[in-house]
Amino acid sequence: MPGSWGRVFVVTGPSGVGKGSLIAAVRERIPELQVSISATTRAPRTGEMDGVHYHFLDAGEFERSVQDNAFLEHADYSGNRYGTLRSEIETKAGRGIPVILEIEVQGARQIRTAMPEAVQIFIAPPRVEVLRERLEGRGTDGPEAIDARMKVAVDELRARPEFEHEVVNGDFEGAVEALEAIIRAELSQSV
Ligand code: 5GP
Repeated sequence: MPGSWGRVFVVTGPSGVGKGSLIAAVRERIPELQVSISATTRAPRTGEMDGVHYHFLDAGEFERSVQDNAFLEHADYSGNRYGTLRSEIETKAGRGIPVILEIEVQGARQIRTAMPEAVQIFIAPPRVEVLRERLEGRGTDGPEAIDARMKVAVDELRARPEFEHEVVNGDFEGAVEALEAIIRAELSQSV
């Protein structure tokens, strides 16, 4: 990757661990950090906008993008497809802007192979039961979808030792600070 590229940060961890909230808080502290907007076949939740929260694609569009090699990584997750478009990284990191990806574990593994220089951060819950409480509290998934996400989450937690950095999201402010410190340390090393 050319030296003028922005750093790429991969934030992964189980569904419900608070990746999105942590990233939003860190972006307030490091405004130059941009997020990669993923593509998904999942239906938009209330308030989610196409091109802002996700690029919402139907199954055919997603598959065509896979065939066109448009994805840097993609994965099936709990009955839907998710992927990082190469164009998202090229238009952001390619212009020297640091970019952050919020993705599940299979995708993070693919990025590790495709882009070994990316900084990988695993967000872990203080206890596994916290994930169910958060998924229930979020109110965006029904009981069956929560059971499915919990099964995947338990598997995802086993991947924890694979990651270079870990942040435990127990005390939210502490976790924001820990994530910010990792990102700032990496940003100060680049250039
Ligand atoms: P949600 O449906 O809750 O928005 O996302 C479900 C899971 O998919 C979360 O763990 C989220 O981080 C992950 N995810 C979102 N975008 C991507 C992506 O582009 N690639 C991969 N591999 N996972 C993603």
